[in-house]
Amino acid sequence: MNKIAPQTTPADFWPELISEETRALLDPSSPADPIARQYVPSADELISSPGERADPIGDAAHSPMRGLVHRHPDRVLLMPTEVCAVHCRFCFRRHALGQPRSLNEPELDSALGYIRAHPPIREVILTGGDPLVLSAERLARLTAALDAIPHLATIRVHSRVPIAAPSRVTTALVAALATQKAMYLAVHCNHARELTREALAATRMFLDAGIPVLAQTVLLRGVNDTADALAELMEALVAARIKPYYLHHCDMVAGAAHFRTTVGEGRALMAELRRRVSGLALPTYVLDIPGGHGKVPVEPGHGPDGEGWVKDTSGGAHRYPPE
Ligand code: SF4
Repeated sequence: MNKIAPQTTPADFWPELISEETRALLDPSSPADPIARQYVPSADELISSPGERADPIGDAAHSPMRGLVHRHPDRVLLMPTEVCAVHCRFCFRRHALGQPRSLNEPELDSALGYIRAHPPIREVILTGGDPLVLSAERLARLTAALDAIPHLATIRVHSRVPIAAPSRVTTALVAALATQKAMYLAVHCNHARELTREALAATRMFLDAGIPVLAQTVLLRGVNDTADALAELMEALVAARIKPYYLHHCDMVAGAAHFRTTVGEGRALMAELRRRVSGLALPTYVLDIPGGHGKVPVEPGHGPDGEGWVKDTSGGAHRYPPE
């Protein structure tokens, strides 16, 4: 392990940004508090470990233009903004975020033109950054443009806003996601305490508008790496009509070793979760293979090998953790 750079602070790399609602939830006197740990900079972020990298899931290798990642023939990621409502200390895309910058109109037009010119694309995933920090007007223009592309079937929005900054969710913002095509919202939620009354009210606004809500969780040491914490979170999500979708193994982002469990620990937690909760409350435990080789399940019996080597969806073997 090496110090990334002497005489620097974690905030030099990734500025602290905590929404008012999230700040009210965390215990500032305890660095071990599972909410504080996700948002308050720590000196551990200055340590780089073998295999870590700035772009751990290899977005750049599959990016035909600014704001677009095309890794699979039938899907693209469209990142209309590099702004988030909060800065998660373990963010896998933080190398590309943090600038107060959204795609300008010509850039957005180029990205939409690319999608129009590629008929195999069936699904657009709006991510970022956080698409729900855009104004309702801008978001509505974007979803209308996507809705008008005949070969698209599905639009998915990835956001931390309903959980971490629920006051941003307004009737107009929800209405901006009204489309003829199938629209899904995937919220990022890592701990049951994040499901506050306000967060639940915000997600209910999308559900009541007919938009199914899924949850993505990052497995994080000191935040949710116990069967109790995961079971409580997954059951609370299901009770709120939010389907647990993915449990992400923490990516090889530089300076996040203190958050990362081993794949073996993650598998053991999933096995325990399977014993304790209904199938409805079980997410799929997944790993993004470093270098842009895609996401694969890592559960026993139907996934790659876990510690040592992993196989991508085409059967290619990759050393994991990478050297
Ligand atoms: S909300 Fe998502 S994109 Fe933004 S900092 Fe957190 S993990 Fe990264």
